Amino acid sequence: MKNADPDELAKFAALAPIWWDRHGAFKALHDINGLRVDYINRRAPLAGRRVLDIGCGGGILSEAMASQGAEVTGIDAGEEPLAVARLHLQESGLRVDYRRAMAEPFADGAAESFDVVTCMELLEHVPDPQSVVTASARLVRPGGDVFFATLNRNLKSFLFAIIGAEMVLRLVQRGTHSYRRFVKPSELTAWSERSGLSFRDLTGLHYNPFTRRYSLGGNTHVNYLMHFRRT
Ligand code: SAH
Repeated sequence: MKNADPDELAKFAALAPIWWDRHGAFKALHDINGLRVDYINRRAPLAGRRVLDIGCGGGILSEAMASQGAEVTGIDAGEEPLAVARLHLQESGLRVDYRRAMAEPFADGAAESFDVVTCMELLEHVPDPQSVVTASARLVRPGGDVFFATLNRNLKSFLFAIIGAEMVLRLVQRGTHSYRRFVKPSELTAWSERSGLSFRDLTGLHYNPFTRRYSLGGNTHVNYLMHFRRT
């Protein structure tokens, strides 16, 4: 599959059965979900909007946006996470249209089809993140909003996201992330602006190991969220 790393897909496939275990391998995604949905909803009110969630996995973010009243389509390159996502709809009673697709070919058939495009915790797992950013920009309608969340690349993010989160605190499974795939906000901004998106906001997502709580704020050294608007 073009622009998907088979090793990455295999990792997520193996963990798919425990996707919705709040205390399992995806605990961190569950823990940050409220914060990221609030961030999106504050900047682009979700009720009644057509939303595309790229790299939706088991649907943690997709379902939360659907519960805010959005009409959500979730795409993922992996079949196993999608199977879990579809099954979970029976528990939640929510509606999400899940499809197996990669962003780039999907954009060929659905350009300018969405009010909001979200792509969270995906860019650091693909061989060519710039290509996913370009596809995201094609998928959103002019005036629509695009949100990215990923990991910054610097000494501090290496220490916190790899050493701290994987080896010491065990917040995520060992081997979840590769440092070389991390993306600097300046790189993400350059790719976005080259694709016709304009910068709206950069916000950090910070984990406090003492209180064991995440919060949004100015510290963008490790995890961060970005908002762009299609011009
Ligand atoms: N966005 C979700 C899940 C993040 S996990 C959330 O934040 O809750 C990353 C997901 O990206 C996995 O489900 C994996 O299968 C998927 N993925 C990896 N490479 C991909 C690619 N190139 N295109 C689409 N999905 C991909």
